[in-house]
Amino acid sequence: MNSGNQSCVITGAGRGIGRALSLRLTAAGMNVLAVSRTETELDETSALCSKHPGRCITHVADITDATEVDRLIARCRSDFGRLDVLVNNAGVAPLSPVDKMSDADFRQLTAVNMEAVFRLCRGAWPLLKESRGTIINISSVASVDPFPGFAAYGASKAWVNVFSQALAAEGKPFGIRVFSVAPGAVETRMLRGAFPDLPVDETLQPDDVAAMIELLLDERCRHSSGQTVFVRR
Ligand code: NAP
Repeated sequence: MNSGNQSCVITGAGRGIGRALSLRLTAAGMNVLAVSRTETELDETSALCSKHPGRCITHVADITDATEVDRLIARCRSDFGRLDVLVNNAGVAPLSPVDKMSDADFRQLTAVNMEAVFRLCRGAWPLLKESRGTIINISSVASVDPFPGFAAYGASKAWVNVFSQALAAEGKPFGIRVFSVAPGAVETRMLRGAFPDLPVDETLQPDDVAAMIELLLDERCRHSSGQTVFVRR
């Protein structure tokens, strides 16, 4: 990957997959705007990236707030002057049978997993047109194989797959590529909150997902766009 001078926004970069990706991309020389609501976690991500050639700048934002989304896109423009890659990674996965799921949990799920993804893609679009950049939306195998209790979550990730495919078609005339990346079980706080007893030999490490994303950003994938790429054991 030729990342010199390129820049990336990664939501949910305070831990889990977003942190692993921040490490990978800054190691490859890309500048990263790391976004989440928890400053201490973002500071840890930034400290871990500090010896890498790319810079990791932290930005505290709740991506369910439209004003904060506008602000983070503006921050990217002012600090980096460009945006080459947007990674919509932040997500929530409340595990709940349908008759037990509250309105509040459902609203938060659609706000983070869908509405914020739409707003970030829309907000970043002009910068991505300038750079002929790439969007990576993090989906899940639950989008095609939902576990009981993941009806709303699986449906939100199926939306991510179709949204990404359609955006890839819209982006083609501008050189914008769009993928959804759909992992199986990954060793993160989200997974262990929902499935504490899942055997470790059935799980991926966050860096396994980050490695796939780095591959999709490689020049050699420049003629691919629109796919849902599964990463599973
Ligand atoms: P995680 O460890 O729980 O991390 C989620 C990140 O998203 C955190 O940094 C969190 O930070 C951030 N976030 C959540 N709500 C936010 C909001 N409103 N505004 C800004 N940031 C927010 O989860 P993960 O496992 O790394 O998951 C990352 C992505 O992978 C998600 O889209 C998830 O659905 C997907 N995925 C995960 C697995 C798995 O097994 N782990 C499998 C398939 C797909 P704050 O809470 O501090 O804001």
